[in-house]
Amino acid sequence: MTFVSTRASDVRAGLSQAIVEGLATGGGLYVPERVAALSPDALPDRLALDALAPPLLKPFASGDPLEADLDAICRDAFVFPAPLVRLAGTPGPASVLELFHGPTCAFKDFGARFLAASLERIRRDGERLTILVATSGDTGSAVAAAFHGRPWVDVVLLYPKGLVSPRQAHQLACWGGNVRTFAVAGTFDDCQRMVKAAFGDPALAGRLRLSSANSINLGRLLPQMVYYASASLQIWRAEGRKPNFIIPTGNLGNASACVWAREIGVPVGDIVLATNENRTIPDYLESGAWRPRPSVATLASAMDVGDPSNMERLRWLFPDVETLGRRVSARSVSNDEIRAAIRTDATALGHVWCPHTATAAHVYHQLPRERTREHWVLVATAHPAKFNEIVEPLIGRDVPVLPALERLLGRPRQEEDLPATLDALRARLLDG
Ligand SMILES: *Cc1c(COP(=O)(O)O)cnc(C)c1O
Repeated sequence: MTFVSTRASDVRAGLSQAIVEGLATGGGLYVPERVAALSPDALPDRLALDALAPPLLKPFASGDPLEADLDAICRDAFVFPAPLVRLAGTPGPASVLELFHGPTCAFKDFGARFLAASLERIRRDGERLTILVATSGDTGSAVAAAFHGRPWVDVVLLYPKGLVSPRQAHQLACWGGNVRTFAVAGTFDDCQRMVKAAFGDPALAGRLRLSSANSINLGRLLPQMVYYASASLQIWRAEGRKPNFIIPTGNLGNASACVWAREIGVPVGDIVLATNENRTIPDYLESGAWRPRPSVATLASAMDVGDPSNMERLRWLFPDVETLGRRVSARSVSNDEIRAAIRTDATALGHVWCPHTATAAHVYHQLPRERTREHWVLVATAHPAKFNEIVEPLIGRDVPVLPALERLLGRPRQEEDLPATLDALRARLLDG
């Protein structure tokens, strides 16, 4: 399969090149030139992620050197499950797709691990990579967990000191070994600026082979299709109908994977994007005018995105907004509505949501009564214990910590303070 840039159809790449480059030359994002229709016969009876991933993803790797490694990559990447849990107490059939059973308890573990497993096979022998990541919370820890202990790579994380949740900060700083964590005296935007500047810095380029693990990378997007396929096929085979998905959305990476899965023929019904008070996507679908803006801080902080990059992929697929609006819908959810969903559902449904997942829960509760007869899947993007300082006061009790999180919280923090300048970052990286 060939991937083309959203901005220039003559910028083309196979899968491994697209993964190494991340962003296409000229700033576009890689998209499949043609979607290969799925042949349901080729899909296994067993819908566990490691069994489903190779046949599902094979067309995307066809003709690429990675095709031969795909089975091994999937075995390396899909080592934790994405359980589909039926909800009780809802007016109609509803389930939760739990994407928080990886090492850092958020869905980004899936993409980060598949990217690490892919780069391990793409990189040239003897070549040492340095993955440089600016993070506002969940991405950095997922990348650290996925690359930690792999002998061919160093990871450098930059996060804004004091601006992530205490447990997020711990998950960023608890690694050591080949992971170096910098607590930057600045904002997330400062961290991103420093990373961008580092990629353009000749002194660094002369010494390090810098690589990114950005969420627009195909190596993070493609594996996310697998859990949507697994969940849809479970419901399709049991009930003979396509489930609808409600997806907490920020930069649109997770939801784009669901749209792609449906495009290749996975039995997905409606896709509803739940955003927080960052309204760029719902406003676009309503008004037809694409107006990116600075992000506003909300309780669902991993979704605080004012200029969702992956919209470029959806607009490439559905160039006019009317068509796009028939393929996805979007609702914005306020902080008060997030709090209310967490508080109410803890007793009404016996489920404790993280602030991101709570946006999907709120959207579900707003559905017109007749639509609740369809099967709805609420996508749980993180475990609530990761955001205990928000969730616990609302429900009046502690949230039990999953063993994965417990393990990380038990490790000592090792991080370095860093001023928010390229000079400071360069000096540290070149000093070793
Ligand atoms: C990153 C993240 C999101 C948003 O996902 P996008 O792919 O950026 O839309 C939602 N919830 C959690 C917990 C996240 O970490």
